[in-house]
Amino acid sequence: MIGPGGTIGILGGGQLGWMLALEAQRMGYRTVVLDPAHDCSAARIADEPIVASFDNEDAARGLAGRCDAVTLEFERIPHHVLASIEKDFHVRPSSNVLRIIQDRVVQRSFLGDAGFPQPAFARIETAADLDAAGGAVGFPSIMKSARGGYDGKNQARVNGAADLAAAWESIGHEHAILERFVRYQREISVVLARTEDGDVRAFPVAENEHRDHILFLTVAPARVPGSVQARAVEIATGVAHTLEYVGVMAVEMFVEDGEVLINEIAPRVHNSGHYTFGACATSQFEQHLRAVCGVPLGDVWMPGPAAMLNLLGDVWEKGEPKWERLFAEFPSAKLFLYGKEATGPRRKMGHVTFAGYDTADAAAVAALRAYDLLKG
Ligand code: AMP
Repeated sequence: MIGPGGTIGILGGGQLGWMLALEAQRMGYRTVVLDPAHDCSAARIADEPIVASFDNEDAARGLAGRCDAVTLEFERIPHHVLASIEKDFHVRPSSNVLRIIQDRVVQRSFLGDAGFPQPAFARIETAADLDAAGGAVGFPSIMKSARGGYDGKNQARVNGAADLAAAWESIGHEHAILERFVRYQREISVVLARTEDGDVRAFPVAENEHRDHILFLTVAPARVPGSVQARAVEIATGVAHTLEYVGVMAVEMFVEDGEVLINEIAPRVHNSGHYTFGACATSQFEQHLRAVCGVPLGDVWMPGPAAMLNLLGDVWEKGEPKWERLFAEFPSAKLFLYGKEATGPRRKMGHVTFAGYDTADAAAVAALRAYDLLKG
Protein backbone atom coordinates (compact mmCIF):
# COMPACT_ATOMS: atom_id res chain seq x y z
CA MET A 1 0.00 0.00 0.00
CA ILE A 2 1.17 3.50 -0.86
CA GLY A 3 -0.06 5.36 2.18
CA PRO A 4 -0.57 9.03 3.06
CA GLY A 5 2.74 10.85 2.72
CA GLY A 6 3.36 9.17 -0.64
CA THR A 7 3.52 11.07 -3.91
CA ILE A 8 1.00 10.60 -6.69
CA GLY A 9 1.64 11.60 -10.29
CA ILE A 10 -1.35 12.68 -12.34
CA LEU A 11 -1.19 12.88 -16.14
CA GLY A 12 -3.59 15.72 -16.94
CA GLY A 13 -4.41 18.76 -14.85
CA GLY A 14 -7.92 19.69 -15.93
CA GLN A 15 -10.84 19.69 -13.49
CA LEU A 16 -10.57 15.93 -12.96
CA GLY A 17 -6.89 16.20 -12.10
CA TRP A 18 -7.68 19.14 -9.84
CA MET A 19 -10.28 17.20 -7.82
CA LEU A 20 -7.95 14.19 -7.63
CA ALA A 21 -5.25 16.52 -6.30
CA LEU A 22 -7.69 18.13 -3.83
CA GLU A 23 -8.60 14.77 -2.33
CA ALA A 24 -4.98 13.63 -2.40
CA GLN A 25 -3.86 16.75 -0.56
CA ARG A 26 -6.63 16.34 2.03
CA MET A 27 -5.44 12.79 2.70
CA GLY A 28 -1.80 13.81 3.08
CA TYR A 29 -0.45 12.76 -0.31
CA ARG A 30 1.80 14.95 -2.43
CA THR A 31 0.94 15.43 -6.11
CA VAL A 32 2.94 15.99 -9.27
CA VAL A 33 0.70 17.02 -12.17
CA LEU A 34 1.67 17.04 -15.85
CA ASP A 35 -0.35 19.16 -18.27
CA PRO A 36 0.44 21.15 -21.43
CA ALA A 37 -1.13 24.30 -19.90
CA HIS A 38 0.80 26.10 -17.15
CA ASP A 39 -2.47 27.57 -15.85
CA CYS A 40 -4.47 24.31 -15.82
CA SER A 41 -7.02 23.79 -13.03
CA ALA A 42 -4.76 21.47 -11.00
CA ALA A 43 -1.78 23.83 -11.16
CA ARG A 44 -3.57 25.80 -8.43
CA ILE A 45 -2.79 23.13 -5.86
CA ALA A 46 -0.32 20.61 -7.28
CA ASP A 47 2.85 20.34 -5.20
CA GLU A 48 4.84 20.10 -8.42
CA PRO A 49 3.33 21.12 -11.74
CA ILE A 50 5.11 19.91 -14.90
CA VAL A 51 4.31 21.70 -18.16
CA ALA A 52 4.68 19.28 -21.07
CA SER A 53 2.64 17.75 -23.84
CA PHE A 54 1.06 14.34 -23.29
CA ASP A 55 3.17 12.71 -25.99
CA ASN A 56 6.41 13.78 -24.29
CA GLU A 57 7.68 10.46 -23.02
CA ASP A 58 10.70 11.99 -21.27
CA ALA A 59 8.44 14.33 -19.31
CA ALA A 60 6.12 11.46 -18.31
CA ARG A 61 9.17 9.47 -17.22
CA GLY A 62 10.41 12.49 -15.26
CA LEU A 63 7.06 12.67 -13.47
CA ALA A 64 7.03 8.94 -12.71
CA GLY A 65 10.54 9.14 -11.27
CA ARG A 66 9.33 11.57 -8.63
CA CYS A 67 6.23 9.57 -7.67
CA ASP A 68 5.22 6.40 -5.86
CA ALA A 69 2.21 5.90 -8.13
CA VAL A 70 1.13 7.37 -11.46
CA THR A 71 -2.39 7.74 -12.78
CA LEU A 72 -4.26 9.82 -15.35
CA GLU A 73 -7.31 12.01 -15.73
CA PHE A 74 -7.38 11.91 -19.50
CA GLU A 75 -7.73 8.80 -21.68
CA ARG A 76 -6.00 10.21 -24.70
CA ILE A 77 -2.53 10.03 -23.20
CA PRO A 78 -0.78 8.05 -25.99
CA HIS A 79 -0.84 4.45 -24.79
CA HIS A 80 2.75 3.91 -25.91
CA VAL A 81 3.84 6.66 -23.48
CA LEU A 82 2.10 4.81 -20.66
CA ALA A 83 3.45 1.46 -21.88
CA SER A 84 6.98 2.81 -21.70
CA ILE A 85 6.73 4.10 -18.13
CA GLU A 86 4.69 1.23 -16.69
CA LYS A 87 7.67 -1.09 -17.28
CA ASP A 88 9.55 0.73 -14.54
CA PHE A 89 6.92 2.44 -12.41
CA HIS A 90 3.59 1.77 -10.66
CA VAL A 91 1.05 3.05 -13.23
CA ARG A 92 -2.72 2.46 -12.97
CA PRO A 93 -4.81 1.98 -15.07
CA SER A 94 -2.65 0.10 -17.57
CA SER A 95 -1.59 1.07 -21.07
CA ASN A 96 -3.51 -1.94 -22.37
CA VAL A 97 -6.76 -0.46 -21.03
CA LEU A 98 -5.98 2.82 -22.81
CA ARG A 99 -5.11 1.01 -26.02
CA ILE A 100 -8.53 -0.68 -26.02
CA ILE A 101 -10.50 2.41 -25.09
CA GLN A 102 -8.73 5.01 -27.23
CA ASP A 103 -10.08 3.55 -30.43
CA ARG A 104 -13.85 3.09 -30.73
CA VAL A 105 -13.43 0.21 -33.18
CA VAL A 106 -11.17 -1.64 -30.74
CA GLN A 107 -13.43 -0.76 -27.78
CA ARG A 108 -16.62 -1.94 -29.51
CA SER A 109 -14.89 -5.09 -30.78
CA PHE A 110 -13.55 -5.85 -27.30
CA LEU A 111 -17.01 -5.42 -25.75
CA GLY A 112 -18.66 -7.46 -28.50
CA ASP A 113 -16.13 -10.30 -28.25
CA ALA A 114 -16.65 -10.44 -24.48
CA GLY A 115 -20.42 -10.62 -24.96
CA PHE A 116 -21.41 -7.29 -23.40
CA PRO A 117 -24.64 -5.71 -24.69
CA GLN A 118 -24.21 -2.72 -26.99
CA PRO A 119 -25.83 -1.19 -30.07
CA ALA A 120 -25.22 -2.99 -33.38
CA PHE A 121 -22.21 -1.48 -35.14
CA ALA A 122 -20.04 -1.86 -38.22
CA ARG A 123 -16.56 -0.63 -38.94
CA ILE A 124 -15.63 1.72 -41.74
CA GLU A 125 -12.06 1.82 -43.05
CA THR A 126 -12.55 2.99 -46.62
CA ALA A 127 -15.34 4.44 -48.76
CA ALA A 128 -15.97 0.93 -50.04
CA ASP A 129 -17.23 -0.08 -46.54
CA LEU A 130 -19.96 2.56 -46.36
CA ASP A 131 -22.81 0.75 -48.10
CA ALA A 132 -22.16 -2.56 -46.37
CA ALA A 133 -22.05 -0.80 -42.98
CA GLY A 134 -25.35 0.93 -43.72
CA GLY A 135 -26.87 -2.37 -44.78
CA ALA A 136 -25.68 -4.15 -41.64
CA VAL A 137 -26.64 -1.49 -39.09
CA GLY A 138 -29.67 0.12 -40.73
CA PHE A 139 -31.01 3.65 -40.27
CA PRO A 140 -31.16 5.98 -38.51
CA SER A 141 -27.61 5.48 -37.28
CA ILE A 142 -24.66 7.49 -36.00
CA MET A 143 -21.20 7.60 -37.51
CA LYS A 144 -18.41 8.17 -35.00
CA SER A 145 -14.76 8.54 -35.83
CA ALA A 146 -12.71 5.85 -34.12
CA ARG A 147 -10.31 8.31 -32.54
CA GLY A 148 -10.48 11.67 -30.87
CA GLY A 149 -14.25 12.06 -30.50
CA TYR A 150 -15.81 13.18 -27.25
CA ASP A 151 -18.78 15.30 -26.18
CA GLY A 152 -20.39 14.55 -29.54
CA LYS A 153 -17.41 15.69 -31.57
CA ASN A 154 -16.55 13.77 -34.72
CA GLN A 155 -20.02 12.29 -34.92
CA ALA A 156 -22.67 12.52 -37.61
CA ARG A 157 -26.26 11.39 -37.72
CA VAL A 158 -27.08 9.22 -40.74
CA ASN A 159 -30.75 9.05 -41.70
CA GLY A 160 -30.41 6.96 -44.84
CA ALA A 161 -27.95 5.46 -47.31
CA ALA A 162 -27.81 8.77 -49.17
CA ASP A 163 -26.24 10.45 -46.10
CA LEU A 164 -23.37 7.98 -45.66
CA ALA A 165 -20.82 9.68 -47.91
CA ALA A 166 -21.51 13.16 -46.51
CA ALA A 167 -21.30 11.86 -42.92
CA TRP A 168 -17.95 10.28 -43.62
CA GLU A 169 -16.76 13.49 -45.25
CA SER A 170 -17.87 15.49 -42.19
CA ILE A 171 -15.73 13.41 -39.83
CA GLY A 172 -12.71 13.80 -42.11
CA HIS A 173 -12.65 10.34 -43.75
CA GLU A 174 -11.18 8.94 -40.54
CA HIS A 175 -11.68 5.27 -39.76
CA ALA A 176 -14.96 5.07 -37.98
CA ILE A 177 -17.87 3.05 -36.74
CA LEU A 178 -21.47 3.24 -37.78
CA GLU A 179 -23.79 2.34 -34.93
CA ARG A 180 -27.51 1.95 -34.61
CA PHE A 181 -29.32 5.01 -33.30
CA VAL A 182 -30.66 3.93 -29.92
CA ARG A 183 -34.13 5.18 -28.98
CA TYR A 184 -33.29 5.25 -25.31
CA GLN A 185 -35.59 6.35 -22.50
CA ARG A 186 -32.68 7.18 -20.21
CA GLU A 187 -28.92 7.58 -20.28
CA ILE A 188 -27.27 6.20 -17.16
CA SER A 189 -23.74 5.52 -15.97
CA VAL A 190 -22.05 3.31 -13.47
CA VAL A 191 -18.97 4.76 -11.78
CA LEU A 192 -17.08 2.06 -9.93
CA ALA A 193 -13.68 1.27 -8.51
CA ARG A 194 -11.78 -1.97 -8.87
CA THR A 195 -8.69 -2.89 -6.88
CA GLU A 196 -5.72 -5.00 -7.91
CA ASP A 197 -7.29 -7.93 -6.00
CA GLY A 198 -10.55 -7.65 -7.92
CA ASP A 199 -12.60 -5.98 -5.19
CA VAL A 200 -15.28 -3.84 -6.89
CA ARG A 201 -17.47 -1.12 -5.41
CA ALA A 202 -19.99 0.77 -7.52
CA PHE A 203 -21.45 4.12 -6.60
CA PRO A 204 -25.23 4.53 -6.93
CA VAL A 205 -26.23 4.37 -10.62
CA ALA A 206 -26.41 7.86 -12.11
CA GLU A 207 -28.92 9.18 -14.61
CA ASN A 208 -27.52 11.69 -17.09
CA GLU A 209 -29.15 14.38 -19.17
CA HIS A 210 -27.02 15.74 -22.00
CA ARG A 211 -27.70 19.00 -23.78
CA ASP A 212 -26.00 19.54 -27.11
CA HIS A 213 -24.01 16.32 -26.45
CA ILE A 214 -22.51 17.66 -23.20
CA LEU A 215 -23.49 16.44 -19.76
CA PHE A 216 -25.89 18.94 -18.21
CA LEU A 217 -27.46 17.19 -15.23
CA THR A 218 -26.80 14.02 -13.24
CA VAL A 219 -29.35 12.60 -10.82
CA ALA A 220 -28.56 9.73 -8.45
CA PRO A 221 -29.92 7.20 -7.93
CA ALA A 222 -31.12 6.93 -11.53
CA ARG A 223 -34.89 6.92 -11.93
CA VAL A 224 -35.01 3.44 -13.46
CA PRO A 225 -36.28 0.18 -11.90
CA GLY A 226 -34.04 -1.56 -9.39
CA SER A 227 -33.63 -4.48 -11.81
CA VAL A 228 -32.20 -2.10 -14.44
CA GLN A 229 -29.82 -0.59 -11.88
CA ALA A 230 -28.67 -4.05 -10.87
CA ARG A 231 -28.16 -5.06 -14.49
CA ALA A 232 -26.14 -1.88 -15.15
CA VAL A 233 -23.86 -2.58 -12.18
CA GLU A 234 -23.50 -6.21 -13.25
CA ILE A 235 -22.43 -5.15 -16.77
CA ALA A 236 -19.99 -2.48 -15.55
CA THR A 237 -18.48 -4.88 -13.02
CA GLY A 238 -18.01 -7.45 -15.77
CA VAL A 239 -16.26 -4.86 -17.95
CA ALA A 240 -13.93 -3.88 -15.10
CA HIS A 241 -12.98 -7.49 -14.42
CA THR A 242 -12.50 -8.29 -18.11
CA LEU A 243 -10.19 -5.30 -18.49
CA GLU A 244 -8.40 -6.23 -15.23
CA TYR A 245 -8.99 -2.59 -14.47
CA VAL A 246 -7.47 -0.85 -11.44
CA GLY A 247 -8.87 2.53 -10.37
CA VAL A 248 -12.18 4.29 -10.94
CA MET A 249 -13.86 3.93 -14.29
CA ALA A 250 -17.23 4.87 -15.72
CA VAL A 251 -19.46 2.96 -18.09
CA GLU A 252 -22.01 5.12 -19.89
CA MET A 253 -25.11 3.24 -20.96
CA PHE A 254 -28.44 3.61 -22.69
CA VAL A 255 -31.66 2.18 -21.28
CA GLU A 256 -33.91 1.21 -24.18
CA ASP A 257 -37.15 -0.62 -23.39
CA GLY A 258 -35.68 -2.04 -20.19
CA GLU A 259 -32.49 -3.25 -21.89
CA VAL A 260 -29.12 -1.83 -20.88
CA LEU A 261 -26.65 -1.14 -23.73
CA ILE A 262 -23.10 0.18 -23.35
CA ASN A 263 -22.38 3.51 -25.02
CA GLU A 264 -18.79 3.93 -23.96
CA ILE A 265 -16.20 3.38 -21.25
CA ALA A 266 -14.18 6.13 -19.59
CA PRO A 267 -10.98 4.83 -17.93
CA ARG A 268 -10.91 7.56 -15.31
CA VAL A 269 -13.01 9.51 -12.88
CA HIS A 270 -16.03 10.86 -14.73
CA ASN A 271 -18.24 13.91 -14.85
CA SER A 272 -21.28 11.77 -14.01
CA GLY A 273 -19.53 10.79 -10.76
CA HIS A 274 -18.95 14.35 -9.56
CA TYR A 275 -22.06 14.13 -7.40
CA THR A 276 -20.21 11.64 -5.18
CA PHE A 277 -18.01 14.54 -3.97
CA GLY A 278 -20.47 15.88 -1.42
CA ALA A 279 -23.18 13.24 -1.70
CA CYS A 280 -21.39 9.98 -0.81
CA ALA A 281 -19.25 8.91 2.12
CA THR A 282 -16.30 8.62 -0.28
CA SER A 283 -15.89 10.67 -3.45
CA GLN A 284 -14.97 9.05 -6.75
CA PHE A 285 -11.67 10.97 -6.54
CA GLU A 286 -10.72 9.56 -3.15
CA GLN A 287 -11.86 6.12 -4.31
CA HIS A 288 -9.64 6.32 -7.37
CA LEU A 289 -6.62 7.27 -5.26
CA ARG A 290 -7.37 4.41 -2.88
CA ALA A 291 -7.59 1.86 -5.70
CA VAL A 292 -4.43 3.13 -7.39
CA CYS A 293 -2.47 3.17 -4.11
CA GLY A 294 -3.71 -0.19 -2.86
CA VAL A 295 -5.61 1.39 0.05
CA PRO A 296 -8.83 -0.54 0.92
CA LEU A 297 -11.80 0.99 -0.91
CA GLY A 298 -14.00 3.51 0.87
CA ASP A 299 -17.69 3.35 1.67
CA VAL A 300 -19.93 4.31 -1.28
CA TRP A 301 -22.94 4.99 0.94
CA MET A 302 -25.17 7.91 -0.10
CA PRO A 303 -27.44 9.25 2.66
CA GLY A 304 -30.08 10.51 0.20
CA PRO A 305 -30.72 11.25 -3.48
CA ALA A 306 -28.49 13.86 -5.08
CA ALA A 307 -28.02 15.87 -8.27
CA MET A 308 -25.12 17.54 -10.02
CA LEU A 309 -25.53 20.52 -12.32
CA ASN A 310 -22.72 21.23 -14.76
CA LEU A 311 -21.89 24.91 -15.13
CA LEU A 312 -20.97 25.45 -18.77
CA GLY A 313 -19.83 28.73 -20.27
CA ASP A 314 -23.41 29.66 -21.19
CA VAL A 315 -24.10 30.36 -17.50
CA TRP A 316 -21.66 33.30 -17.85
CA GLU A 317 -23.41 34.72 -20.95
CA LYS A 318 -24.92 37.68 -19.09
CA GLY A 319 -21.90 38.19 -16.86
CA GLU A 320 -21.00 36.65 -13.52
CA PRO A 321 -23.57 34.01 -12.44
CA LYS A 322 -25.93 35.06 -9.64
CA TRP A 323 -24.06 33.22 -6.90
CA GLU A 324 -25.87 34.98 -4.06
CA ARG A 325 -29.17 33.50 -5.25
CA LEU A 326 -27.72 30.00 -5.31
CA PHE A 327 -26.25 30.29 -1.82
CA ALA A 328 -29.39 31.92 -0.39
CA GLU A 329 -31.86 29.39 -1.75
CA PHE A 330 -29.72 26.25 -1.43
CA PRO A 331 -27.67 26.44 1.76
CA SER A 332 -26.41 22.86 1.34
CA ALA A 333 -25.37 23.19 -2.32
CA LYS A 334 -21.64 22.62 -2.93
CA LEU A 335 -20.00 24.78 -5.59
CA PHE A 336 -16.90 23.66 -7.51
CA LEU A 337 -15.24 26.15 -9.87
CA TYR A 338 -12.37 25.00 -12.05
CA GLY A 339 -10.56 28.32 -12.33
CA LYS A 340 -11.05 28.70 -16.10
CA GLU A 341 -11.98 31.66 -18.27
CA ALA A 342 -15.47 31.42 -19.88
CA THR A 343 -14.21 31.24 -23.43
CA GLY A 344 -17.20 29.48 -24.97
CA PRO A 345 -20.76 28.36 -24.19
CA ARG A 346 -19.74 24.67 -24.17
CA ARG A 347 -16.74 25.00 -21.86
CA LYS A 348 -17.03 23.14 -18.53
CA MET A 349 -16.44 25.87 -15.94
CA GLY A 350 -17.62 24.18 -12.76
CA HIS A 351 -20.49 22.28 -11.20
CA VAL A 352 -22.81 22.33 -8.21
CA THR A 353 -23.74 19.30 -6.11
CA PHE A 354 -27.12 19.04 -4.37
CA ALA A 355 -27.17 16.26 -1.78
CA GLY A 356 -29.43 14.71 0.82
CA TYR A 357 -32.84 15.09 -0.83
CA ASP A 358 -35.83 12.88 -0.05
CA THR A 359 -36.33 11.85 -3.66
CA ALA A 360 -34.37 11.92 -6.93
CA ASP A 361 -37.13 14.09 -8.40
CA ALA A 362 -36.62 16.69 -5.66
CA ALA A 363 -32.86 16.72 -6.23
CA ALA A 364 -33.36 17.20 -9.98
CA VAL A 365 -35.87 20.01 -9.42
CA ALA A 366 -33.39 21.79 -7.12
CA ALA A 367 -30.61 21.58 -9.72
CA LEU A 368 -32.83 22.89 -12.53
CA ARG A 369 -34.10 25.73 -10.35
CA ALA A 370 -30.50 26.64 -9.48
CA TYR A 371 -29.61 26.73 -13.17
CA ASP A 372 -32.34 29.31 -13.79
CA LEU A 373 -31.33 31.33 -10.72
CA LEU A 374 -27.68 31.40 -11.71
CA LYS A 375 -28.36 32.52 -15.26
CA GLY A 376 -30.57 35.32 -13.92
P1 AMP B 1 -20.63 9.81 -27.05
O1 AMP B 1 -19.65 10.85 -27.51
O2 AMP B 1 -20.52 8.50 -27.76
O3 AMP B 1 -20.73 9.69 -25.58
O4 AMP B 1 -22.05 10.39 -27.48
C1 AMP B 1 -22.55 11.60 -26.98
C2 AMP B 1 -24.05 11.54 -26.93
O5 AMP B 1 -24.59 11.25 -28.23
C3 AMP B 1 -24.59 10.43 -26.05
O6 AMP B 1 -24.59 10.80 -24.71
C4 AMP B 1 -25.99 10.26 -26.62
O7 AMP B 1 -26.83 11.29 -26.15
C5 AMP B 1 -25.73 10.43 -28.10
N1 AMP B 1 -25.47 9.14 -28.71
C6 AMP B 1 -24.27 8.54 -28.86
N2 AMP B 1 -24.40 7.32 -29.45
C7 AMP B 1 -25.72 7.14 -29.67
C8 AMP B 1 -26.49 6.08 -30.25
N3 AMP B 1 -25.93 4.96 -30.73
N4 AMP B 1 -27.83 6.24 -30.28
C9 AMP B 1 -28.42 7.36 -29.81
N5 AMP B 1 -27.75 8.40 -29.26
C10 AMP B 1 -26.41 8.30 -29.19
